[in-house]
Amino acid sequence: MLEVNDSRCIACGGCVGVCPVDALELAEGRDIIVDNNKCIDCQICVRFCPVGALKVFEKDGKEKPLTLMKLPSKGF
Ligand code: SF4
Ligand code: SF4
Repeated sequence: MLEVNDSRCIACGGCVGVCPVDALELAEGRDIIVDNNKCIDCQICVRFCPVGALKVFEKDGKEKPLTLMKLPSKGF
């Protein structure tokens, strides 16, 4: 699951644009809201965030090491 560190976030909105499943929303121009039912833990937003405000945690509570999941091949 993804967690946002609100004290770091500068509300740039970039993570909202890069999420492939629309799991992020910038509410009232200042708070990032995560829908962890949609999030697929791809960490694209974690890599994108310019201030390190995003982290993905495993079910056991440990921080997920920064990796990128393989996206499905389009076959060409
Ligand atoms: S980890 Fe991936 S799916 Fe989850 S909110 Fe970030 S960009 Fe979206
Ligand atoms: S990319 Fe980082 S700083 Fe920008 S809105 Fe998302 S969490 Fe906040």
